[in-house]
Amino acid sequence: MHFALTDEQELIVATVAEFTERELMPHEEEVERLGRVPGQLAAGIKKKAIEAGIFSANMPVEVGGAGLDNLTMALVEKELGKTAYALHHLVARPSNILLACVGEQRDRYLYPTVAGRRMEALAMSEPDAGSDLRGMKCRAVRDGDEYVIRGVKHFISHGDICDYVILFAATGEESPQDAGGGRAPRKITAFLVDVGTPGFEVQEGYRCVSHRGYNNAVFSFDDCRIPASQILGEEHQGFEVANTWLGGTRLAVAANCLGRAERAMGLATEWAATRTQFGQTIGRFQGVSFKLADMATQMAAAELLTLRAAWKADRGEMSSADAAMAKLAATEMLAHVTDEAIQIFGGMGLMGELPLERMWRDARVERIWDGTSEIQRHIISRSILRPLGG
Ligand SMILES: Cc1cc2nc3c(=O)[nH]c(=O)nc-3n(C[C@H](O)[C@H](O)[C@H](O)COP(=O)(O)OP(=O)(O)OC[C@H]3O[C@@H](n4cnc5c(N)ncnc54)[C@H](O)[C@@H]3O)c2cc1C
Repeated sequence: MHFALTDEQELIVATVAEFTERELMPHEEEVERLGRVPGQLAAGIKKKAIEAGIFSANMPVEVGGAGLDNLTMALVEKELGKTAYALHHLVARPSNILLACVGEQRDRYLYPTVAGRRMEALAMSEPDAGSDLRGMKCRAVRDGDEYVIRGVKHFISHGDICDYVILFAATGEESPQDAGGGRAPRKITAFLVDVGTPGFEVQEGYRCVSHRGYNNAVFSFDDCRIPASQILGEEHQGFEVANTWLGGTRLAVAANCLGRAERAMGLATEWAATRTQFGQTIGRFQGVSFKLADMATQMAAAELLTLRAAWKADRGEMSSADAAMAKLAATEMLAHVTDEAIQIFGGMGLMGELPLERMWRDARVERIWDGTSEIQRHIISRSILRPLGG
């Protein structure tokens, strides 16, 4: 067991860190103020990220990406996570569920997305189906060679700027026997649906306290017809496709949190070492220094869990519990670290002049999206109890 990075990983981390500091961080205040990334700025960031070779870094070389492994991607996500989501999202890491595209789907969706000509969104959540996605009401009913979609998706990240959506919709019900006599869960299928398809409307989403400028949208489908060739994966196999490809998403959330925590910790440490009260720097008071000790310990623990999960993913050994532990530890850690960093700053920590209050607000959503902390605990505990039949 060893923890050293390779020379190549060191170089990649340094490149992404410099890009984040030079090209993204200077625009944080503007994005926060406007609640969006101006189009010209977004196009400029994308272009520079492509030139720097860090665009679509997670995708295989064969499809036009940089082909980085999961461990290296976790290091990349950590650096990008230090800045505002609305900005670092433009350094695309396309959802690798797109690798399930076959034939013509690759030309229409996968390749242009990896190249930065198109952008995807992913729509699972609905007003009545969040954690319990099997209860989704959005339906796709087969009609000859087409599917007719009806229903609503909400909370869809960057739905306002995407070109198409990877949509999960119910295409049938399990038999009552399969459901064990309980409520029959829906059979789910994944589809690729272009923005602009008649019957598909993108509406403004909710105002969110976290990640301003990275907006969510509501999608409504009203007799939206798409050809059956738009199925991603197999009919009724939507969750199987998602489970095969989306494990890395939780690692990305965890790694982003590591980066933001490191930035908050850096600010708090500098303040504790220089701010004087009662004739000495506040870091000399145990009430402050022990906070820093706890923050550093939680950060190190979350980082080890995240990198271990990524390392296991590269060996094909990552379980859903590994990813859940990393997400749970890192997101809960970030909430604590940003809160304590503000406490160390005192009143100044709450002021918009520093990035801390934003990082504290941004931390809030991490414990909710991509599966709440309770759902992560559910996944972890199930992996402990199931082998014993519990
Ligand atoms: C800003 C933002 C962006 C998002 N982006 C996307 C996106 O791009 N695409 C997408 O599909 N979704 C997206 N989501 C949705 C997100 O994944 C859901 O919010 C999340 O899964 C929780 O669902 P919910 O909000 O409906 O809460 P609910 O599922 O209603 O949960 C409410 C509470 O009950 C708890 N709970 C529920 N079930 C259990 C259980 N079995 N055991 C214990 N506790 C339980 C939850 O933990 C939570 O505390 C986004 C959400 C936000 C806030």
